[in-house]
Amino acid sequence: MTGVREDRPQAYDVVVVGGGNAGISLAAFLRSQDARRTIAVVAPEDTHVYRPLLSYVGAGMAHPDRPTRPQSSLIPRGCDWIRDAVTRVVPRASGTSGTTGAATPADAASDPRARVDADPDHHTVVTAGGEVIGAVDLVLCPGTVVDWDAIPGSREACRSAYGSTNYTAELAPHTWAVLRDLRRGRALFLVSNRNTPCPGVGLKPLFLAADHWRRTGCLDDIDITLVLEDAQPFGLDRADDRLRDELRRLGVRLHTSARIESIDPDDRLARIAVAGGGHLDLPYDAMHLAPPHRGHAWLVESGLTDPDTTLVANDPSTLEHRDHPGLWALGDAATLETPSSGGGLRPQVPVLSHNILARRSGATFLHYDGYTVAPIPLDRRRLMLAERLRDGHEYRTFSAFSLARPLRALMFFDLVVQPPVYWHRLLRGKGLDPHEDTEPAGRSL
Ligand SMILES: Cc1cc2nc3c(=O)[nH]c(=O)nc-3n(C[C@H](O)[C@H](O)[C@H](O)COP(=O)(O)OP(=O)(O)OC[C@H]3O[C@@H](n4cnc5c(N)ncnc54)[C@H](O)[C@@H]3O)c2cc1C
Repeated sequence: MTGVREDRPQAYDVVVVGGGNAGISLAAFLRSQDARRTIAVVAPEDTHVYRPLLSYVGAGMAHPDRPTRPQSSLIPRGCDWIRDAVTRVVPRASGTSGTTGAATPADAASDPRARVDADPDHHTVVTAGGEVIGAVDLVLCPGTVVDWDAIPGSREACRSAYGSTNYTAELAPHTWAVLRDLRRGRALFLVSNRNTPCPGVGLKPLFLAADHWRRTGCLDDIDITLVLEDAQPFGLDRADDRLRDELRRLGVRLHTSARIESIDPDDRLARIAVAGGGHLDLPYDAMHLAPPHRGHAWLVESGLTDPDTTLVANDPSTLEHRDHPGLWALGDAATLETPSSGGGLRPQVPVLSHNILARRSGATFLHYDGYTVAPIPLDRRRLMLAERLRDGHEYRTFSAFSLARPLRALMFFDLVVQPPVYWHRLLRGKGLDPHEDTEPAGRSL
């Protein structure tokens, strides 16, 4: 393990688990609010991935190196980086009795199952390297993992010459190879809604590939099918109507409220359960999957998740764990009751930061209203930004007009402007509240 200060305290004011969009922007925001707080970020990866760019890697519009930066360059100044993976979380002991016999770091390293008793003052995380770290406030934001087992055959299908997914950095370049090389035949796009991050962007490969096929004169020879597990492409009428029109114009066969059951990579068939009953076997010559995701096993084993979703069992409005005060969740790992997205973190981070202070001072909590966003291109030049709240109503960043319409300026924004904004502002804890020009970050409970 490197990158760790020798004089690191054993307990921090705040420990942030995960060094993705959520973890880094929260740590930076907390630090900018109060430089005296001790903060640790526990994150195992050397490389940070700006995942929205993976969609453009998968369309041949961005170099595969463009979404990545060294994690060391992103850890906020003043925060400790614990370059290790969390394997267990022990929430603070409720009640007053102290505990004895907590495992030492050496115990935990030699035996990852070593007993770590609940501490009355701190939440505790145990890492793969045997660190035992205390936190007055503990924020869980390790994202989710692709649940290949949820769709038998999907892992092999996405690694074959005929299928791929943009949902891992490793496979995004392969998506472009698969879609680019199709000249005629059947293209199949499968979008799961089982914890899939930012599910609206599961449509990006379809529209960007269709435009490529149109430009290369192949579109008429390619039969396109789209399978959505959701009833609608995004869940906002204005955007969905537009998307359905565009899908009709491209002659796309659409199945909604379907269930992706299995994929046979040898016979190139995807089996789906269709709405209303029955099954269909859909053949393909090129396939993209926006796969189901699940919460990390160690969070489930730590007893912190909702058994149905495997996401952290936090209140979706305050982001605090339902059973453990001072334990919080953020981003893809959290229960949000709205599709997760990087854009959704912009209001989540200030709400969570406020609530950490409010928990200590007794002030009123703020709540996250479920703002989420999906940038969906209709071709390689025009993109719409569909924005909505948890209740399904449209949210307008600019009150005078909706961004849920295809504009060239929005494609430029998503592909060219947004990445530097991400690296230089959002990950530095700036520009994090989409409501800042219009209304408070969250409403009082
Ligand atoms: C292909 C794709 C395109 C997308 N496009 C968009 C878009 O255009 N717009 C948008 O708003 N959103 C988009 N999203 C969604 C957005 O990327 C996610 O919502 C966002 O990254 C969530 O951030 P996170 O920090 O919660 O999770 P992640 O980004 O997954 O980060 C989790 C971090 O936790 C770390 N971690 C994992 N396990 C452990 C452990 N045991 N201990 C400690 N750390 C751990 C990981 O290494 C990682 O650094 C897209 C997602 C994908 C996959």
